[in-house]
Amino acid sequence: MLPPDYHMHTPLCRHAVGEPVDYARRAREVGIREIGFSDHSPMARDNFDNWRMQDRQLTDYIARVEHARREVPEVNILIGLEVDYIPGHEEWIQQLSERHSWDYFIGSVHYISDWAIDDPQTIPRWREHDPYDVWQRYFKLLTEAAASGLFNIIGHADLPKKFDIRPQQDCASLYAPFLDAAASSGTAVELNTAGLRKDCREIYPNPQLLAMARDRSVPITFGSDAHDPREVGADFSEAVELAQRSGYRSSVRFEQRQRLDDAISLPRAKEVSSPAK
Ligand code: ZN
Ligand code: FE
Ligand code: FE
Ligand code: ZN
Repeated sequence: MLPPDYHMHTPLCRHAVGEPVDYARRAREVGIREIGFSDHSPMARDNFDNWRMQDRQLTDYIARVEHARREVPEVNILIGLEVDYIPGHEEWIQQLSERHSWDYFIGSVHYISDWAIDDPQTIPRWREHDPYDVWQRYFKLLTEAAASGLFNIIGHADLPKKFDIRPQQDCASLYAPFLDAAASSGTAVELNTAGLRKDCREIYPNPQLLAMARDRSVPITFGSDAHDPREVGADFSEAVELAQRSGYRSSVRFEQRQRLDDAISLPRAKEVSSPAK
């Protein structure tokens, strides 16, 4: 049985295709019994960028997810948002959380100052920087996001690897403060399979970061980051294997922004595949 898929988008963000009902039908098809929408949230200022819903579209977003719930009752459908962590936006995020009975917020860092580090159009900017400097700045922000308590889950924790531009240095000292913050605030880290579809060809986060998360008992969730219904649950068996190899025996669920105790237990590694080397 596959774990819930908590990371999927809708056309409201302007770079995804398929309605929530299509994602839900796909989940039913591949045998996923719980999904959650986490589309790119509005910002305090509309047209902040061109890859998110506008503020007034929030009600439409909720309505489309409710439509999927009615059409596909076999799948438990949650609703959340993927919210950018940007210093200074904390109060706005708090207000956003009060506008609906959300099941969870995924906190993501896509911006380092005005640079959307995962936007392919900004790849030239990567060439002007030492990758380690970028990772350092990114993980400082991610640490603040995890410490803020504004989010239930941290999205694609090592996003800067997306274009496979990686530092030579060991980054353990950047991961540690982030994971300490996640552990003390009770924020989960997601295993996001979209990385497998990018140049880095690797699940977010990398095995080293995930093992360090396990050492600190940081809870995990799973997400495909689907921007197309065909991506629902993509590569989840690989993600489950990675979790198991990292020592995880269970993942967590959320509802109404509360972590649920009825965690999904992951089958033991050897039941899924040959033991880790
Ligand atoms: Zn997106
Ligand atoms: Fe994201
Ligand atoms: Fe996403
Ligand atoms: Zn995302």
